[in-house]
Amino acid sequence: MIINAMERIMKDLLDEYKTRLQLNCTCNECLDDILALTLNKTHPRYVTKAEKVMYIKAEFIDKQEMTSLLVKLAECAKIVSDNPTCQNQQKEKI
Ligand SMILES: [Zn+2]
Repeated sequence: MIINAMERIMKDLLDEYKTRLQLNCTCNECLDDILALTLNKTHPRYVTKAEKVMYIKAEFIDKQEMTSLLVKLAECAKIVSDNPTCQNQQKEKI
C-alpha cells in the first residue's frame, strides 16, 4: 500500500481551517479542488503504512514547515474560492 502522507496531512489541515479560510463555497467538490491544487504544489511524502502518516505529521508540528503548508493551503483556497467550478456556483449565476 502506498500512501502520500501529505494528502492526509493537508486534508486534516483543510478540515481544521476551512471555516477560517473564508471560502465562497465549502461543498465537497470545492474542498477536493483545493486539496488537489495544494497537493500539486506540495512535495509528496510516500509511506507504506497508514500508521506512518503520524510520524510524518509529527515532523511538521510546531515547525515553520507547518506554517508554510498553511500558507500554501490558503493560497490555493483563495484561487478555488475566487473561481469555483462546482454545480452550486453555476446554479447561482443562472
Ligand atoms: Zn462548491
